[in-house]
Formats: sequence, C-alpha cells, structure tokens
Amino acid sequence: TPRVFSGIKPSGGLQLGNYLGAIKRFVGMQGEMETIYCVVDLHAITVWQDPQELARGTREVAAGYLAAGLDPTKSILFNQSQVAAHAELGWIFNCVARMGWMNRMTQFKDKAGKNAENVSLGLYAYPSLMAADILLYHATHVPVGEDQKQHVELTRDIAAKFNHDYKTDFFPLTEPVIGGPAARIMNLRDGTKKMSKSGESDMERINMLDDADTIAKKFKKAKSDPEPLPENVEGLKDRPEARNLVDIYAALNDQTPEQVIAEFGGAGWGKFKPALADMAVAKLAPISGEMKRLMDDPAEIDRILGEGAAKAREIAEPILKKTYDIVGMLRS
Ligand code: ATP
Ligand code: MG
Repeated sequence: TPRVFSGIKPSGGLQLGNYLGAIKRFVGMQGEMETIYCVVDLHAITVWQDPQELARGTREVAAGYLAAGLDPTKSILFNQSQVAAHAELGWIFNCVARMGWMNRMTQFKDKAGKNAENVSLGLYAYPSLMAADILLYHATHVPVGEDQKQHVELTRDIAAKFNHDYKTDFFPLTEPVIGGPAARIMNLRDGTKKMSKSGESDMERINMLDDADTIAKKFKKAKSDPEPLPENVEGLKDRPEARNLVDIYAALNDQTPEQVIAEFGGAGWGKFKPALADMAVAKLAPISGEMKRLMDDPAEIDRILGEGAAKAREIAEPILKKTYDIVGMLRS
C-alpha cells in the first residue's frame, strides 16, 4: 500500500521554500494515501542548535504543519527523537552505506564548505539517518524539494544494498516526489542559491512568521534584473531571479508560470513586485496567524506530537524488530 513519509528540520524558522516545496504538497497528499510527517529534530542537531531554540523551532514546524492544513486525525505528526527506532535503524544503515556514497553528497559539501574537518560526524552521516526515517515506515513516496533528490536516491541505494547483502526483499525502493514550480525556491538576494532556513541574511528568505510589512519589504528589495517580465516563459531562461519570482507567484497562487506570464508579461518590476507581495500576504497571513495562535499553547502542540509518536511507533517497531531478525541480532 502506498505510504508517504517526509520531514522538516527544526533548524530555524520555517521559510517559504519549506512551505511551497514541502508542506503545501504534504497537505495535498493527505487523505489520498497514508501520510506520516515528522519534525526531524535529530537531523537539526547535525549543526549546533541552542536547546531552547530547538524546542521552540520544533513547535514552530509542528504549528506550520497544522496551520497549513495537516490534520492529526488524518496524518501522523510527530518529532523524530520520540521514536527511538529512527536512531536504531540509522545505526544499522551506517553499516550498510559506503563512505564513497557519502562523499558524493552535494548537500554535505555545501554545508561543510571549506571547513570539512570541523563539522560533526552527524552531518556526514545525515543521509543514512534520512534513509532510516523513510524505510522505517516502508514509505513508498517521499515528497521533498529538489535539493533532497540525491538523498532519496541514496535511500534507494541503501535499501538495495541491504536487500542484496541479507538476501531479502524487505525494504522497498522509494520514489522521490518532486515537481511543480516550487521544487526549488531560490534565495531572494541570489537567484543561484536556494532559499534556506539557515541562510545568513534574513533578507534572502520569506519566513512563514514574517508580518505583512516585512514580506512587502523583502519582495521590494529582492534582486531582479533591468528587463520587464518577458512575454512568454521561454524568456525567463538565464534570468534566475525573474524566474524565481514568477515561480513563487505561480506556486502560491496555484497557477502555472505560463498563467502568471499571460497576466504579467511585459510588466515592469514596479508593477509585478507589489502584486506579488499583496498576493503573498493574502495567502500567508491566515497561515501565520494560525501558527501564532497554536504556538501560544505549547502544551497542546506537545500533546499532538506525543500522540503522533505513539502511532508512529506502532508502525516502526515491528519493522525495526524484523530488521534486527534479518541482521541476526538476538531479541528476547
Ligand atoms: P536548512 O537550511 O537548515 O537545511 P532548509 O530550509 O533547507 O533548512 P530542510 O529542513 O532542510 O529546510 O528541508 C525541509 C524540506 O523543505 C525538504 O523537503 C526540502 O527539500 C524543502 N525545501 C527546503 N528549501 C527549499 C526551497 N528553497 N525550495 C523548495 N523546497 C525546499
Ligand atoms: Mg536543507
């Protein structure tokens, strides 16, 4: 049976790329398949997190899920560290994955930068924990942004090697589900880099909790180019900033880039940016308002995550037990 798993790190406040590339699509899959959405706190600490900020960020991601329309009676919502099986299967996969595979992970190279000697071992092993997150539920579909494609492919490699080494077909080969204009939302100050929670400058991203004035200011100051919008989408080629702003408009307004260009082709930035800001505020304000309301009651968020974790364990624990049996670990 089809089963969806995905997660977001509480490594800072939610940004627009997380919403458009991930959460909005999570909501679209709810009800169509069994859906499991995690706040992946074990992944967050692969880079240093202040403990209070980590707890606050975990509740913010959970509030983002709920405010966007995920329903704890229809989806399993929980934070990763409450289900110990993630860390346990992650260890087994550390012993399946090969160093050479990890060395090819572009996200590790980006995040480690020139400082690879001084990043955590966890940051290096992150993709094998992500494989455990997915395979612990025998998930068949993983909705993610384009930046996670390589990690989902690695998950398939780990599943295939485990199955081969232990002569089993226990782990399924998972499909990444990527697509639409929001697969890769770019940084507002540099159209060649993706928008991220952990990017240096706050001006490069729209945070889900930004107020209307801040959103308007960030779009106004967003990097663009001297040309007006083209008359057709082909004209966006080699114009990364223009393409990004059109993609954001399209994704937020449930349109295609073609439809956006049909409306705004030939318009200058002085017309398009305010229209984008107004539409974005109209779409995001109800979500951020609801997020703030939910975050005023942290105990309720914690309760929802705890109940979700109990449901997650019911699925995960038998799969972990079977894995231990296959590997030859005694349980009594
Ligand atoms: P960090 O900077 O800490 O890595 P992040 O913003 O990249 O944070 P993640 O928790 O790594 O967020 O990713 C959560 C989900 O959001 C993933 O599915 C990822 O592919 C998606 N995502 C992140 N950034 C973007 C983006 N700019 N465009 C589309 N999807 C994105
Ligand atoms: Mg990321």
